[in-house]
Amino acid sequence: MIYADNAATTKLDMDAFEAMKPFLLEDYGNVSQPYSFARAGKKALRQARVVIADCIGALPEEIYFTSGGTESDNWAIKGIMVGSKGSMITSEVEHHAVLHACRAVEELGGEVLYLPVNRRCEVQPDVLEEAVTSDIKLVSVMMANNEVGSIQPIKELSRISHEKGALFHTDGVQAAGHVEIDVNRLGVDLLSASAHKFNGPKGIGFLYIRKGTAIQPYMDGGSQEAGMRAGTENVAAIVGMAAALRKNCDHMRENQIRLRKLEQIMDDTLRKKGIDFIRNGNFGIPGNISLSIGGEEGEVLLHRLDLKNIYVSTGSACNSINTEVSHVIRAMKVPREYAEGTIRVSFGAGNTEEEALEVARALVEICK
Ligand code: PLP
Repeated sequence: MIYADNAATTKLDMDAFEAMKPFLLEDYGNVSQPYSFARAGKKALRQARVVIADCIGALPEEIYFTSGGTESDNWAIKGIMVGSKGSMITSEVEHHAVLHACRAVEELGGEVLYLPVNRRCEVQPDVLEEAVTSDIKLVSVMMANNEVGSIQPIKELSRISHEKGALFHTDGVQAAGHVEIDVNRLGVDLLSASAHKFNGPKGIGFLYIRKGTAIQPYMDGGSQEAGMRAGTENVAAIVGMAAALRKNCDHMRENQIRLRKLEQIMDDTLRKKGIDFIRNGNFGIPGNISLSIGGEEGEVLLHRLDLKNIYVSTGSACNSINTEVSHVIRAMKVPREYAEGTIRVSFGAGNTEEEALEVARALVEICK
């Protein structure tokens, strides 16, 4: 089989798995306990926080472990907005973890403004500049889009937000481990990440919270995570996440070069064979290829590829009456005759040039 849906989730890295094992089978003590049996877990937890902080240019005490990207996004948004009198701004192309958290804010009486994007799925800084006023408490714009891989001008957007006194959150779930992140250079106050998007285990992530940011705790209970997020720590998963992020960051450049090559192979093959397609986004995340193919239906392509044991994702879903195009593809205003034929091929660790060629050839065969 060819797995080309790494933006959905990734295979656990073997070194990360090895690093996790002792904390599942031997040093499984509850790290809140004062006895010596919990010592190894406590030390590993401390080290993991240092490693993760180092990977994104943060301080260890600015890293809070969560159950993943969804929780981190919910915490960032609700932790700032619930109980506050101000409004917030986000974009039309956010993941549902952000959009539905915003909906919850609206249901509690808060106001949310949704910024449009251009054809490349970019939030333009001058559009934010016009929208942000002094009653905006929070601006949340994703660092990289999960459907088309576009990277947003975060440094510029956070600067504009700060000038008007707003905090800035970015959903970094698709970016962490794939492109360089330095929270200080980007100037973000909050950043969400999720381990299973960078070859770590599922169900674990973190929220970076800049020191001094006024945010409500997310979970009531014990005093874990400095009293901000209660619940017994999943030490094995946290250790696995740190190992995976470290490895990805250490090999980032070579991974990027390899993935760009796979993109090129796909692109060249489809073009040479005369496939009528639009490549969406600004090609930010290496290996994330969103294609809108003229006259096709994304869901049909997905199932036809599935029959060939090739796994990709779609940006449109058919029902018995019509084809529903995703909110991201709609926001980018991809022409209807292409939009319905949108699929996302996302290559990752382990994908080879032969596989990229095979995916492209399979697509050509199906389309022809
Ligand atoms: N944000 C983005 C951009 C994502 O791509 C995802 C997952 O697809 C999430 C948030 C949610 O992350 P998780 O699956 O860890 O809850």
